[in-house]
Amino acid sequence: LPKRLEGAKRVVEYIQLALEHKPLNLGQGFPDFPPPKYVTDALSQVANGDNFMIHQYTRGFGHPRIVAALSKLYSKLLGREIKGQTEILTTLGAYEALFSTITGHVDVGDEVIIIEPFFDCYEPMVKYAGGVPRFIPLRMKSGGSKVCTSADWVLDKDELENLFNAKTKAIILNTPNNPLGKVFTEKELNQIADLCKKWNVLCISDEVYEWIVYEPNRHIRIATLPGMWERTITIGSAGKTFSVTGWKLGWAIGPENLMVNLQMIHQNSVYTGVTPIQEAVAIAFETELQRLGQDECYFVSISRELLSKRDYMAKFLQDVGMKPIIPEGRLLYDSRLVSSGSEKDKYKDYRFTKWMTKNVGLQGIPPTAFYSTPNKHLAENLVRYCFIKKDENLQGAAEILRKWK
Ligand code: PMP
Repeated sequence: LPKRLEGAKRVVEYIQLALEHKPLNLGQGFPDFPPPKYVTDALSQVANGDNFMIHQYTRGFGHPRIVAALSKLYSKLLGREIKGQTEILTTLGAYEALFSTITGHVDVGDEVIIIEPFFDCYEPMVKYAGGVPRFIPLRMKSGGSKVCTSADWVLDKDELENLFNAKTKAIILNTPNNPLGKVFTEKELNQIADLCKKWNVLCISDEVYEWIVYEPNRHIRIATLPGMWERTITIGSAGKTFSVTGWKLGWAIGPENLMVNLQMIHQNSVYTGVTPIQEAVAIAFETELQRLGQDECYFVSISRELLSKRDYMAKFLQDVGMKPIIPEGRLLYDSRLVSSGSEKDKYKDYRFTKWMTKNVGLQGIPPTAFYSTPNKHLAENLVRYCFIKKDENLQGAAEILRKWK
């Protein structure tokens, strides 16, 4: 394998493990309950409606109806008029948005700052482009005996400042963060923004979990900070927004001069997205646009529903002696592993999660997968459990852990 192709093996390995041992799977971060009915109804209407042209290729940079909906929504969210024709690209999931952004902007030898823990494709994508990943971990402030939250994980200001230099091309920000659930505060985002402006650096802002934020935390879009629109590509995902991860529709939004680079990569690798999916998601957005901010808006209700799941899981993990790191957004991460028998993997969290899958019947994800090699030790004592699952499955997980204990 060429060096630049060494990448994340974790996902494939753990899917295989789940297939073999059939554990209760709290590993993969997708919902195990149905998406909102009006969203799936939209797809079936689109598929079976009179407009049969909806099954053919559409505009390459984005199907017009979804582009119009995204432009309306993000004009509100970003506080400026977003021009659908030039400032939005729809992609095959947020994955392709990340890929087109990184490949379209990073040149051989360019440095890209990646905040750890990070969604595991960032590193290989930077390497494919010939770039050099430079890592900086969020470090846990010692919280004493109190319950730890993802807000206790912070960047060291000097460490961050020291990473920026003339070779820095971009920084990849992920807020709310996967896997930690950290929601960056305005102060933290301003620190990053100031350095981006000082060193003329692009900010690639992966905001796929923008709607999964628990009160009183607030998701702040870095593109809305002074001087940042000009240097930010904001990335989103219909899969995360509407709990339809299998639909693989994402988008990137930014100023025209930056979007041109993404469009080139997209045009010559993918060319066009899936027409009926884009049409159905457009209909879903049109519905939400009419009730934005209201209680029945899915973007509001999803986090409310997840909040009780989060608190339920935090409680049962504490009951069995684990120490959860309570997320401000999205999933849960929690610490304290036990000896993990016969597994041979180098890192403790891998040994633990494999052993648990095979012997206890509960699957989690090893968080060292979200770290560069020198920093893996920072997460070796942790495991990631996902709680965007049916209540009965969370109760099942609680039961399994209680029995195991
Ligand atoms: N970014 C992050 C942080 C993610 O967690 C994911 C999916 N797990 C993606 C991007 C990719 O999203 P999509 O499924 O829309 O490609």
